[in-house]
Amino acid sequence: MVVGKPLFSEEDIQKKVKELAEQISKDFEGQELVTIGILKGAFMFFADLVRHIKVPLTIDFIVASSYIKESTTGEVKIHYDVREEIEGKNVLLVEDIVDTGITLNYLRERFLLRSPKTLKICALLDKKERRLVDVPIDYKGFEIPNEFVVGYGLDYNNQYRNLPYIAIFKKSI
Ligand code: 5GP
Repeated sequence: MVVGKPLFSEEDIQKKVKELAEQISKDFEGQELVTIGILKGAFMFFADLVRHIKVPLTIDFIVASSYIKESTTGEVKIHYDVREEIEGKNVLLVEDIVDTGITLNYLRERFLLRSPKTLKICALLDKKERRLVDVPIDYKGFEIPNEFVVGYGLDYNNQYRNLPYIAIFKKSI
């Protein structure tokens, strides 16, 4: 297995992260935000994103994983849940990549039950072709083809998360 050449360089990513943060800061001007990073994959993106957001915010995390079974609904497991009260608050969910959409859709519906004032989703990567469940992405970084990518938080067997760029992971070159 090899990591191909960068699909998005460190510079591409940082430029996009700043653009997303600027848009978020503009949309929530004069308001406060509860930001929630979906771990583990979003840890790097989340850390970069929040340091460029200009409105007052709090930070929390949720650890989730999905297991795709026969049905298209899959099964999502929560390993660690947010501790903050989100009722009546502006919530921003931050995800690394939306693939089938199962994880994000599950989390979105789960958070909506807690009656936030607003619930927005920010995802760095969108693998649209693979979508099984429609989920609104309010702030999107890049659309990517149906390829397995690693780096900038994204893993293969829990490795490669530390790469500062994103690359396609291939069985051979
Ligand atoms: P979904 O529920 O949308 O199918 O899956 C989202 C999760 O699948 C992501 O948070 C990520 O952990 C994983 N995933 C989906 N596509 C990729 C990929 O190309 N590379 C890596 N490393 N993980 C992926």
